[in-house]
Amino acid sequence: MSEMVPRSHPRYASLKTREKVVEGVEKGITGPNGLIAQGRGEALDYFIGEKTTSPGMDAERAAAAMLLLAERPVLSVNGNVAALVPQEMVDLARSIGAPLEVNIFYRTEERVQEIVNLLRSLGGETIFGEDPDSFIPGLDHARAKANHGGIYDADVVLVPLEDGDRCEALVKMGKKVITVDLNPLSRTAKTATITIVDNVVRAMPKLIELIEEMKSLSQEELAAITERYDNVDVLRRSVREMIQHLEGQFSEM
Ligand code: ATP
Ligand code: MG
Repeated sequence: MSEMVPRSHPRYASLKTREKVVEGVEKGITGPNGLIAQGRGEALDYFIGEKTTSPGMDAERAAAAMLLLAERPVLSVNGNVAALVPQEMVDLARSIGAPLEVNIFYRTEERVQEIVNLLRSLGGETIFGEDPDSFIPGLDHARAKANHGGIYDADVVLVPLEDGDRCEALVKMGKKVITVDLNPLSRTAKTATITIVDNVVRAMPKLIELIEEMKSLSQEELAAITERYDNVDVLRRSVREMIQHLEGQFSEM
C-alpha cells in the first residue's frame, strides 16, 4: 500500500484493494483487463455499502455447505483473484483438501506460471493449470483449457469473478458452480448455482471461517442448507440491498 493513503482514510480498504490489483498487473499476475473488472466491482461495492449483506451471508453459508459436501471440489484462480486473495485461496484449498486450478481469461503461459509460482510460494500443494489436458465444451480453444483431476472433472467449482460464458459452460457440464460477483445482474451471477454478491476480499475470509464452523455439521444438516438455498431470491435481495442503500443516502441532508 502506498504511503500516500493514510489508514484513517474513510475508503482505505477500497483503495488498498485497488492497489493490490495494480500491483498484480505490475508483477505480471493480472492482465490489464483486470483493472477494468476491478473498477466495475468497486462501483457496485459502493452501491451495496461496502459491506457483507444478509443475502451475501446466506450465499456464503450455502457455499460453505456445498464445498463441504463436494466429492471433488476445485478452486479456480484467475488474475484478479491471485492479486487480491491468493493466501485465502491456498488456505481454503488446504482446509477442504481441494486442488487449485489457474484459469485465466486472457491466457498467456507466463501469467499462468507467475500465478502458479505465487500460489506455491504461499503453501499451495496441488495446483493445475500449467499443462492443461482437456477442454471445456462450448468455449473457444484458449478459454476452454482445463485439467483432469481439476476443473474438468470437478463436481463443485468455486470460480470467483468468473466470465459469464465460462460460468455457463461449466454449468452445462453438470457442475455446481459457486461464484463471487458484486454484480447481481451479470450473466455469471444469473447462471451460477450460488452467487455470493460481495467483495471477494470480504467473501473469502468469511467462507474460510464458515467452513471451519460448519465442519461439525452432519451431511444431512449440510444438505438441508443447500436444498433450501434459492439463488434467484438471493440475487433479488441483493438488488434490493443496493436500492435501499442508495435511497438512504440523502435522508439526513
Ligand atoms: P458477465 O458475467 O455478464 O460477462 P462482465 O463482463 O461485466 O459480466 P467479467 O469481467 O466477465 O464481468 O467478470 C468480472 C465480474 O467480477 C464483474 O461483474 C465485476 O463486477 C466483478 N468484480 C470485480 N472485482 C470484484 C471484487 N473485488 N469482488 C467481487 N466482484 C468483483
Ligand atoms: Mg464478461
